Amino acid sequence: MPEQPQTLTPLAQLGEFGLIRRLAQSARAQQPGTRTAIGDDAAVLQPTPGLQQVISTDLLLEGIHFDLTFCPLRHLGYKAVAVNVSDVAAMNARPTQLVMGLAAGARFSVEALEELYAGIRLACDAYGVDLVGGDTTTSPGGHLLLSVTVLGEAAPEAIVRRSGGQPTDLLCVSGDLGAAYLGLQVLNREKAVFLDDPEAQPELENYAYVVQRQLRPEARMDVIHELAELGVVPTAMIDVSDGLASEVLHLCRESGVGARVYQDRLPLAEETLEVAEEFKLDPTTCALNGGEDYELLFTVPLALHDKVRNHPDITVIGHLVPPDQGAYLVLPSGTQVELQAQGWTAF
Ligand code: ADP
Ligand code: MG
Repeated sequence: MPEQPQTLTPLAQLGEFGLIRRLAQSARAQQPGTRTAIGDDAAVLQPTPGLQQVISTDLLLEGIHFDLTFCPLRHLGYKAVAVNVSDVAAMNARPTQLVMGLAAGARFSVEALEELYAGIRLACDAYGVDLVGGDTTTSPGGHLLLSVTVLGEAAPEAIVRRSGGQPTDLLCVSGDLGAAYLGLQVLNREKAVFLDDPEAQPELENYAYVVQRQLRPEARMDVIHELAELGVVPTAMIDVSDGLASEVLHLCRESGVGARVYQDRLPLAEETLEVAEEFKLDPTTCALNGGEDYELLFTVPLALHDKVRNHPDITVIGHLVPPDQGAYLVLPSGTQVELQAQGWTAF
């Protein structure tokens, strides 16, 4: 826990401009294309000649996407950047700049928002992204709202869409699945205990892995760089934010194909299996229909099997099939279960 300052500064004491100065003092730009960052009416960017730009945006709303009862602001700042960078990674592009919209109410102190920005800056440093601007306003209901837009770039021939998958391509996923969903179950349980008895100390030591997967996910830029080193350009790619089933179905729909996913191939961490057992949840369901893993799901031609097979952080979980064969999970018994999209945020 960071040490709490003796007195907290109310937002009103600094005013909008003072707050922006405190929060957004910009570090030196890391990207050569960043010509003017925070402080002017608009940022000025120089795209790298020959590369195409990608842009993606995400809204994170308190009460919908995060719960400040158990989400430290520093982690939230990091996650807000990481989930955006994950979308750039899923295009096989490199992130370059970031714009941050922020609405907060009077219940937040200047110091609390500085914590948020410490996390934002940490993630910007980790991914080599420049924070080049944003907007700050008050939130009448008091809820915290973050609106994050990230820019990135890639050579036109390197950009990977959801639509490029071909029947017989191998279906691959990075890292492991289902842990973030179980982390959320642990945090929700501890929250209920805390609301019952505010003196209770949260018991999270045994759940470090799954809780960290929920609170502080990483964008898999490392996998993007490694694929490039291997000379592998996926045919299609998507990041796993809503659970594997939903992402496989997106990829199939956009590529006009079907898929077979083998249950016994799903990458599940030991911790995920243990926590799932404790919560009496099926780990396969956590992987398929949980969410927020932020791993990469991608397809490669069969001919590249050897290049991905031996990678310690990539698992071949199945393959694509012609569209009339549908998208199914294949159980070890051979039984096939149709994949259903559950989605993460219920509307
Ligand atoms: P404007 O009146 O043109 O909206 P602002 O006073 O809101 O300008 O912003 C001043 C500068 O600070 C701009 O460069 C803007 O991009 C940047 N900025 C404002 N809010 C934030 C924020 N929350 N995070 C990062 N940069 C910000
Ligand atoms: Mg403004």
